[in-house]
Amino acid sequence: MGTILPELSTVYSEYLLVPQRKKIDCTPETVDLSAPLRAFNYDPAKSWGDQDSFWLNTPFMVAAMQATSDHEMGIATAREGCITTINCSRSIESEAEAIEKTKRSRGGFVVPQVLNPEMPIPEVAKISQQTGYDRFPVTEDGTSNGRVVGLLTTDFYDEHTHAQLRVKDRMITNDPNAKWQYETLSRHVTLDSEIGDDLSSANRFMREESRTRMLILVDGNGNLRRAVFMKDVDEHNRHRKTELIDEQKRYKVAAAVNTRDFKKRVPAIIKAGADLLVIDASQGHDEWQEETLRWIRKKYADVPVISGNYVTPDGFDFAVRNGAHAVKVGIGPGSICTTRERLRLGLGQATAVKMIADRRDQYFLATGIHVPIIADGGVVNLSDITIAFALGADVVMMGRFFAGYHESPTELETIDVEAKQGGKFPMLAKPYWGEGSERAKRWRTGRYDQNEISEGIEGYVPYKGMLNDNLPKDIRELKIAMARGGYASIRDLQKHAKYAQQTEGSMREGSPHDIFRVK
Ligand code: IMP
Repeated sequence: MGTILPELSTVYSEYLLVPQRKKIDCTPETVDLSAPLRAFNYDPAKSWGDQDSFWLNTPFMVAAMQATSDHEMGIATAREGCITTINCSRSIESEAEAIEKTKRSRGGFVVPQVLNPEMPIPEVAKISQQTGYDRFPVTEDGTSNGRVVGLLTTDFYDEHTHAQLRVKDRMITNDPNAKWQYETLSRHVTLDSEIGDDLSSANRFMREESRTRMLILVDGNGNLRRAVFMKDVDEHNRHRKTELIDEQKRYKVAAAVNTRDFKKRVPAIIKAGADLLVIDASQGHDEWQEETLRWIRKKYADVPVISGNYVTPDGFDFAVRNGAHAVKVGIGPGSICTTRERLRLGLGQATAVKMIADRRDQYFLATGIHVPIIADGGVVNLSDITIAFALGADVVMMGRFFAGYHESPTELETIDVEAKQGGKFPMLAKPYWGEGSERAKRWRTGRYDQNEISEGIEGYVPYKGMLNDNLPKDIRELKIAMARGGYASIRDLQKHAKYAQQTEGSMREGSPHDIFRVK
């Protein structure tokens, strides 16, 4: 006989956070949003934030989706202290490449894209268009550790006028006889050992000595080691306090793996530099997940791995028993998801997070180990995020929220939107589609392709501009909400939050009502 759960299936918007007594020093400036992503054995001698884990400075993960995840998103989010999960609904080579590109932008020092002197100019134009790069070191053999023989910037060629020429015909060199040149390569090149690992010395050198926007760093034989771009130094300086970097000062990035080609995919993405693995399955409580998780833990014991997705305490036990470092929660809450509509599977996200967090807390009491919970999908408003933490989540994973940023890998479009008052108005938008949608399947997805039914839709989200200009405003709003309620950190919310389930009347009262609004 089946069982009806005593819990109702509830969603974030049904809950209200109730303020607690606020300490005078609980302000948006002091609110701590750092969050762990790897299970740790709690050490009472240390504060929560000093526990040995994989910490985010901002508790957001970008969903592993075609419409959200690529290296530009990886770089922009790492600057703000959160992390992108590169999707696995693409080839192993393409996932590894996105990871490499994120890691390459190393908080200032990069292994740059190089050119071969024999490369035709139209090919350079194509690379520049695809990558957005506008200056390239040229090495003798075209490899990233070859001898530096030139520099080509987009100012020095015209795609059409120079279509018959090659890189060597337009690059800046040290050749005094190159007629059209007004500058020499040596101004842009310096010894790697002179700069060391200190970005501020590269910065000083570029601003005061070379007066260049890019510095090519070489070894004693003139072979390329790495490069520094002025714009990266500026970004690094802007994000010094928030950025998420590894010991080599490279941005951190997560990578999704599926439960089918993991034996080939995992070695390739670890080699590319993935800092964290996320097993990407819409329903994780099965034998494929078990096999994948155990295999990863055995082969790569040190790499943190998140297992998902689950909606039950049994799912939590299963994931932890098989070695998961963190547990991802959510079946059916995604904004593009039709799993519940079509298959009637899943659970309201608020209830799922709460049930699993309760089991996690019991586990903590029994073992002293805290297992982070990632609440995946269903965030509609920023205020949903505080509720997710109050219910017990450590981190939220979002797709829709990030899809509208400039850095998502989709094209900006203008669409016609129905106005409430009737008629239509044009809106800047970016496309967003589910990994189980027909559109994603055309790209071949690994997450939902066992079944023939599409479990997602495609649509648009409003364009939100550049992430680094706009995400800080949302983070600030989150901090204001927490500080106003008297909650100083995510841990504080997890441990002390009081919240109430709302009635329909409470929801109505909670929005402006019974007045004629000024337009
Ligand atoms: P959102 O933030 O509400 O848009 O939800 C994003 C999450 O939805 C992802 O992290 C996935 O867990 C989930 N998801 C992605 N694609 C699909 C789909 O096609 N069907 C169902 N769920 C999906």
